[in-house]
Amino acid sequence: MSPSVFTDLAQNAPTQVIDYLGVSISIKRLDLIHPHISGNKFFKLKYNIEYAMQHGDQQILTFGGAYSNHIAATAFAAHEFGLNSVGIIRGLELQSKPLNPTLQTAHNFGMQFEFISREQYRHKEDIEYLNELKQRYPQAYIVPEGGTNALAIQGCSEILTPQDQDFDLICCAVGTGGTITGLIEASHSQQHILGFSALKGDFLKRDVARLTLKHNWSITDEFCCGGYAKTTPELLDFMQNFEAKYFIPLEQVYTAKMLYGLFKMIERGEINTQQKLLVIHSGGLQGRI
Ligand SMILES: *Cc1c(COP(=O)(O)O)cnc(C)c1O
Repeated sequence: MSPSVFTDLAQNAPTQVIDYLGVSISIKRLDLIHPHISGNKFFKLKYNIEYAMQHGDQQILTFGGAYSNHIAATAFAAHEFGLNSVGIIRGLELQSKPLNPTLQTAHNFGMQFEFISREQYRHKEDIEYLNELKQRYPQAYIVPEGGTNALAIQGCSEILTPQDQDFDLICCAVGTGGTITGLIEASHSQQHILGFSALKGDFLKRDVARLTLKHNWSITDEFCCGGYAKTTPELLDFMQNFEAKYFIPLEQVYTAKMLYGLFKMIERGEINTQQKLLVIHSGGLQGRI
């Protein structure tokens, strides 16, 4: 099968309009484009899979935590295109435990796991460690954690289509920064891209500033609820109410935090409501609790 299946599906994201306090918000439903390669991960993998196939690589090797949507998406995409996949998973202790739903999904699509210690995982970008992996997996094409590399950014720049030109403010969830960078690259200078970080800390701003020369963007970690994959009763409450009111499913790691933050900013009058608002629903629903 050819990777063109990616191209075709990219056109399939419907935009749904919701209202909050009289503000109309358009939501681009990337969660609906594919049942397994969820949302933004689809765009991040597209050119990477294509590259691996063109270079005759038989295996995709990548990195992630136990709850990584990227791990599940990579396993599926590799399987779909006749490649093997290897997941280097953070946490040696997971080796002796039953697989959680994310890892089980990846396993079902044939992913082979290597569990490593958190200490070792910190070296996932070191040349020495990568060289060692290349020796042990000579057939592998290596994709970094979260799938973020230049080809992923190129793929994510296709999330915005010509119909999205009229939006003034574009909101997205941020994990490793690949998706927001693609959106920034595809935006025009009058548009502002606002990222809601799922992680605590300022390092993402520095990471994204290294990936783009443009300045029409900002990232806030105010709504990360304490950090990656952390939740608060208020966030879970918000998620439940949002889903009941708008019939749009969210998950607690990324999309719920983004909409929770956006709604808070609208309540506080921090969003210029004359602007046309677009929210990217980046999917991830396989990791929903
Ligand atoms: C991975 C993921 C993100 C973060 O994307 P990055 O490119 O790593 O910033 C956002 N939303 C969902 C649902 C994800 O699975």
